[in-house]
Amino acid sequence: MSEERSLHFLEEIVEADIAAGKHTTIHTRFPPEPNGYLHIGHAKSICLNFGLADKYGGKTNLRFDDTNPVTEDTEYVESIMADVRWLGFEWEELHYASDYFDQLHAFALELIGKGLAYVDDLSAEEIAETKGTPTSPGKASPYRSRSVEENLHLFQEMKAGMYNDGEKVLRAKIDLASPNMHMRDPIMYRIRKTEHHRTRDKWCIYPMYDFAHGQSDAIENITHSICTLEFEVHKPLYNWYIEQLGIFPSRQFEFARLNLTYTVMSKRKLLQLVQENMVDGWDDPRMPTISGMRRRGYTPASIRNFCDRIGVQRRENIIDVGLLEFFVREDLNKTALRRMVVLDPIKLIITNYPENSSEILQGENNPELEDNGGYRDLNFGRELWIEAEDFMEEPAKKWFRLAPGMHVRLKNAYIIKCTGFQKNGAGKVTEVLCEYYPESKSGQDTSGIPVKGTMHWVSVADSSTAEVRLYDRLFQVENPSNEDGDFKTYINPNSLEIIAEARVENSLLEAKGGQQFQFIRKGYFTLDNKYATNGKLVFNRTVTLKDTWSKEVKK
Ligand code: ATP
Ligand code: MG
Repeated sequence: MSEERSLHFLEEIVEADIAAGKHTTIHTRFPPEPNGYLHIGHAKSICLNFGLADKYGGKTNLRFDDTNPVTEDTEYVESIMADVRWLGFEWEELHYASDYFDQLHAFALELIGKGLAYVDDLSAEEIAETKGTPTSPGKASPYRSRSVEENLHLFQEMKAGMYNDGEKVLRAKIDLASPNMHMRDPIMYRIRKTEHHRTRDKWCIYPMYDFAHGQSDAIENITHSICTLEFEVHKPLYNWYIEQLGIFPSRQFEFARLNLTYTVMSKRKLLQLVQENMVDGWDDPRMPTISGMRRRGYTPASIRNFCDRIGVQRRENIIDVGLLEFFVREDLNKTALRRMVVLDPIKLIITNYPENSSEILQGENNPELEDNGGYRDLNFGRELWIEAEDFMEEPAKKWFRLAPGMHVRLKNAYIIKCTGFQKNGAGKVTEVLCEYYPESKSGQDTSGIPVKGTMHWVSVADSSTAEVRLYDRLFQVENPSNEDGDFKTYINPNSLEIIAEARVENSLLEAKGGQQFQFIRKGYFTLDNKYATNGKLVFNRTVTLKDTWSKEVKK
């Protein structure tokens, strides 16, 4: 992954602008609406905006696009700030579109004064009906020819709260025959008698997205206003407001949204999953939210690397979630401490190991690190827990794990030979018996016994229980938003498997909430922050060890 990638189209635009002397430096912004938690799609936008500014010595603002009082909340504002910082970015200036309400109102008065805006009494339905179609022009509202004085007066009355929601709107007077529907006298202001999470009851008229966004960009001297493709058709309007007002000429550029397989990526849909208790909140580890990925154990670097790798396009596509998992694995392989955990324990008894005796062995923390990242103590004794699936009564072909008569190595410990097993009345194997070779200790093996398999284990006397949560895809189909009917019918009913009593080596009692580990042979896991505080050990599986992507990525 170290080879230099070529410039993406936005980098080319910025470089051309700088070369042409249009700008000496650039200024971008990330403008979330605080109506939900950020998801991996937003992470792409964050990495893009902050990444461009970093690369070209510019600045990036965080701006809350909080012009719709109905859906917004301070809980979302706080989570968004935490998520941007967690991803590793720090904004230059923090703004709220609502801080510009006075200025936007003044802009509206200016357009009314120039005869470029009017108060319309038509209802939302009537406005929609008279807008025409892309091939036939719209019809002028009977109120379109109101005088500047009358418009100023009525707009003042709207602001003073003299009308109810929907009774009047302020519209820009542009072109009812424009082939672009957004230019057919778009609404600038509407009445919403709702408290705003920041301005409280100061306003009862609120600017529409289009009237707020470009002007906010201009107020902040944003040079490159980057958004997703669906806003391309809004661009003429974005430019029209800026031109008519003669303000800083911010320019808008569009790129394709990130879509990911086996999930949905719209705050509206994610909110439904939360409200209908189909997940454990916005930060459920199966959610595509930044907070969900954090709780699941994904690292900021893995998300940044993923965003960098997928690049920026102008064509819609859907990215395999396996690629994101590849970057998670790649990062955790370098950093996660190795630990032994038995998810489905059965007892192994070493019959030739002295009773009431034990010894301390050493396990490397991470072979990828210098000096193996140091070592931890492993308590070894006569009774161990091993994985039930590592034993077969009658071995299959190419079976290199335990079966009567077979040799395996216990990780960081000794070679053992299986000598027998016990079953209960129901025919289930309850105990496996073996003998060990004292001269085969890891690192000083003189036994000369060839073994093909290595198994993890924990000591019965020196291990603890923990809950382990195994996650699978949240949806059963690649693109639930593209299927017929309600997207929720495609939820995977088996996306969470809870193992109530796994056996963990006792060094894990010192794990910190959010810390990642590789459970040897089992995958990467993280201690759940939500439960870490009340003494209960709950581990979330971050990602399995199996990797189907590394070949693809190295191509
Ligand atoms: P959603 O549809 O999930 O509600 P949104 O576009 O309404 O998303 P905003 O809060 O308005 O969410 O988005 C903030 C920024 O993030 C915008 O610039 C938007 O274009 C960008 N963004 C949102 N979703 C994606 C995505 N899937 N891929 C890339 N950028 C995105
Ligand atoms: Mg939006």
